[in-house]
Amino acid sequence: MFGFEDMLHSEFTEWPFKVMFYSIIFLLGISIGSFLNVVILRLPRHESLIKSSSHCMTCGAKIRPIDLIPVFSWLFLRGKCHSCGEKISPRYPIVESLNGLLYVLTFAVLDINAKAIITCVLISLLIVVGFMDWDTMEIDMIIVALIFLLAIPSAIFTEDASIKSRIIGALVISVPFFIIGEISRIFIRKKTGEDFRAIELGDTILMFAAGALLGTQAIIVSAFVGILLAAIGGIAYKAVTGESKLAFGPYLSMGIAIAALWGGSIANWYIGLFADKMQ
Ligand SMILES: [Zn+2]
Repeated sequence: MFGFEDMLHSEFTEWPFKVMFYSIIFLLGISIGSFLNVVILRLPRHESLIKSSSHCMTCGAKIRPIDLIPVFSWLFLRGKCHSCGEKISPRYPIVESLNGLLYVLTFAVLDINAKAIITCVLISLLIVVGFMDWDTMEIDMIIVALIFLLAIPSAIFTEDASIKSRIIGALVISVPFFIIGEISRIFIRKKTGEDFRAIELGDTILMFAAGALLGTQAIIVSAFVGILLAAIGGIAYKAVTGESKLAFGPYLSMGIAIAALWGGSIANWYIGLFADKMQ
């Protein structure tokens, strides 16, 4: 029987709690997103992440505290500097709201637990990796090291992947990526005389770190999804701008984030397609 007691405990007490919880998570997400913007901008220039307040890129006017509210300030200022009226890049509110929305999505998909918290940290680090690689064509090794270190709380507080799965996960994609990279390097050097790889070392080390965090199954899903998105993204970018952009990091980051949220389901779905044809 569904009585008053059940109503009190399920729907009626649940939805206000959920609204409040997700609102707090979103606000926390956009605030951290605001800091991620600072990291994306300053880390490649080796500038301090904490000291000195931000200035307008055009007129140098100090950004007022009132203009530092994530997303809302940008909307309130209609994307313009309060002093000179120069456009402020929509990149800032995009990074902030992306981080906020992905935090909400993470808790909605994974529920409230240690894995969700670790995944939120991972997603923020991936946002930095992705945007920085897009800007500078470099994957920052400090951020990748932090992703690798997340494997420690993950191993202690979640039953996400066994130690064996983490060790194999670290190697199963990074080793073939490394080999492909080195072979492509030989061919590229012979053909053009330039020294670069089809898959750069940064991408390889990123997959090593993420593999240690997510385990074998999820890192394989990450690589598949990342390569697929890179192909689609590369074609779309070329169609729109006429240029080709070689940054692989943003797509791998998306693949890793998707695998962290739905890796198990994607793997089961894919294997299920062929399950009856394997015997
Ligand atoms: Zn200005």
